Amino acid sequence: MTTSRIIQVGSVPMGGGSPVSIQTMWDKPVSIVDDSLIAAVDNLNRKGCDLIRFALPNLQAVDQLAPLLKKTTMPLVGDIHFDYKIALKAIEAGFHKIRINPGNIGESWKIEEIIAAAADHGTVIRIGANEGSLNTSGEWSASARSQRLVEAAEGNLEIFERKGFRDIVISLKSSDIDVTYLSNKEFRKHHDYPLHLGITEAGPLIPAIVKSTIGLSGLLKEGIGETIRISISDSPEYEILAASELLTNLGLKKGRIKIISCPKCGRTSFDTHGFLESIKEELNTLPLEASVAVMGCSVNGPGEARHADLGITGNGKQVLIFKQGEIIRREDICSAKEAFLEELEQLRQEFSS
Ligand code: SF4
Repeated sequence: MTTSRIIQVGSVPMGGGSPVSIQTMWDKPVSIVDDSLIAAVDNLNRKGCDLIRFALPNLQAVDQLAPLLKKTTMPLVGDIHFDYKIALKAIEAGFHKIRINPGNIGESWKIEEIIAAAADHGTVIRIGANEGSLNTSGEWSASARSQRLVEAAEGNLEIFERKGFRDIVISLKSSDIDVTYLSNKEFRKHHDYPLHLGITEAGPLIPAIVKSTIGLSGLLKEGIGETIRISISDSPEYEILAASELLTNLGLKKGRIKIISCPKCGRTSFDTHGFLESIKEELNTLPLEASVAVMGCSVNGPGEARHADLGITGNGKQVLIFKQGEIIRREDICSAKEAFLEELEQLRQEFSS
């Protein structure tokens, strides 16, 4: 299996054994870079987002978004269709990467101009091949469809390779998990460009996470895929949390808390669902590689979560806080959050010393 070459997207290395990066796409038009946009982008970054893509539907959008380049350390990706002048302007403005579909840019001289500008500015180009733009409906098998997708990507690559441009990321997207798996696997056999993985149009929250997990896990376990996006018809924050969770569970992302929690049942004396919700910010952002358990009762709580680095469980009107199976605190339920967060911070200090 060919391993990927390494390219640099702003501050984020992609490929060549670098950590698999996580990205999302901003889900609204942007007319101004204001404090709320900057705060939202920072929030995504703290939750695990490594780079973020914005639609650039026209030349004006480049001007409107360009100030963000100076307000975040995250590399920005411009998503461009149809008009090569938008790509030139985004490159000139300093976008670290652009995503284009050469098929809708038009004549080859326009693509050559984009390539020349990107080479001058050190801009990475993602070339997207999408099954939706190929006529593969009907009797086509998954393997025939994936072959068509690979051929489409290779066709798009020709002009870039002729010009000696290699700062390229490739995506082969389908809403079908088998086509996604087969096409990316086949492409990697022959090319060393970093691959952007994702299941396109994967649906609302739960279906999207299930489909994406099935579709991407096999590839990632085989070392295929240098950057991922979990596409969800919901907020970008969910995309980042789902991608972080997937990579953490595959052992491809370090420094995050692994959560063990019980679903609750008739024995519950502690609202695990509400408690998790109340501390989700800390659980999702604290740089701590540890397991944390939140259990509903003491019948199974400390026992089932014995191996957790830190845990809390209901015990009548109280909660028990335990560390590696040993009970270290008993608290009233009303002071559970404060006590648990104190212990979480203590654990972070112990793990970082
Ligand atoms: S830990 Fe207790 S409350 Fe939670 S599911 Fe198990 S038995 Fe039920």
